[in-house]
Amino acid sequence: MASAGAQQSLKRRDSSVTREDDQLIITPLGAGNEVGRSCVYMSYKGKTVLFDCGIHPAYSGMAALPYFDEIDPSTIDVLLITHFHLDHAASLPYFLEKTTFRGRVFMTYPTKAIYKLLLTDYVKVSKVSVEDMLYNEQDINRSMDKIEVIDFHQTVEVNGIRFWCYTAGHVLGAAMFMVDIAGVRVLYTGDYSREEDRHLRAAETPQFSPDVCIIESTYGVQQHQPRNVREKRFTDVIHSTISEGGRVLIPVFALGRAQELLLILDEYWSNHPELQNIPIYYASPLAKRCLTVYETYIHSMNDRIRSQHAAKSNPFIFKYISPIKSIENFKDVGPSVVMASPGGLQSGLSRQLFDMWCSDRKNACVIPGSITYHSLPMQTLLRQVHSWKSSCLIT
Ligand SMILES: [Zn+2]
Repeated sequence: MASAGAQQSLKRRDSSVTREDDQLIITPLGAGNEVGRSCVYMSYKGKTVLFDCGIHPAYSGMAALPYFDEIDPSTIDVLLITHFHLDHAASLPYFLEKTTFRGRVFMTYPTKAIYKLLLTDYVKVSKVSVEDMLYNEQDINRSMDKIEVIDFHQTVEVNGIRFWCYTAGHVLGAAMFMVDIAGVRVLYTGDYSREEDRHLRAAETPQFSPDVCIIESTYGVQQHQPRNVREKRFTDVIHSTISEGGRVLIPVFALGRAQELLLILDEYWSNHPELQNIPIYYASPLAKRCLTVYETYIHSMNDRIRSQHAAKSNPFIFKYISPIKSIENFKDVGPSVVMASPGGLQSGLSRQLFDMWCSDRKNACVIPGSITYHSLPMQTLLRQVHSWKSSCLIT
């Protein structure tokens, strides 16, 4: 959810009205008063920029799109994508292939690489009817040819619009964009994190204040618990569940938190020899493919990961975590920890394990991320499972 510190208007841009051109117009087409489908339209001095192009994860088909009918896509000069998450990038193939948009689109290198893998998987796993399909794999491939890449701190100018980006933390490749039109500077953060985690640096602070800041505000003024407290809550639930003979399911979206949680678990296991006979499995073919991208961009991560890499140990090769391909390859013989996609429990391995394990009170399900990101069917599903011993939310 984004909030803007500037005048908002639903009026369309009309280049014949000069006075209107002098107004900075910011219109959220999604993520205004809601979480999901981030997409913010901005126009000033006859130039137009669109920030992000997400889908709403709780809806499907056209209902998941931002309100594109509020704008004329053919008037947009530049489209900037902050990061690969579906709620920020998954409308892009639709917008590039099925609308009149003819402008230029930019994102960072890692975002582009993971965007392709993530969306191809999204199209495969989303079980929607043909008429509800927003786009197919060919559309994603075609969109790849249109996406240009931008490096952190590189300034690009398109039709008098100057822009550059800063590290946002959050996920690999995530960027915050600063746009300068006729000397007026607008910062659009997308999702960002001011706290360094196990593999990513914290978001940068720009050297100067922007005139307008459009900031991610899902959590409002809520204070997050410190990272070590949240991590302890996570490892405590897992440790106590398996000590009592239970199984732990961690449904995850293939990318983002999953890599961070794997790093936490592998380290916890290496510090607790008594747990080392308990297997940890990771079931996400997509994430496995994406790890190649993570390995390629180790130089853009934090010092911890870079120094491990310099010492010739690959931080993404885990000692205590083994991959599994499918439920047929999984021997369910005792306590274990399984991280499986999809994170929404709608189908696939995470759902199969959920159905298999949810009637046993000994077991636990740990759900990473904010519940607001999860689909309504999943929220209902979780409420129905009263027999589940503990479901722990971490954000
Ligand atoms: Zn995100």
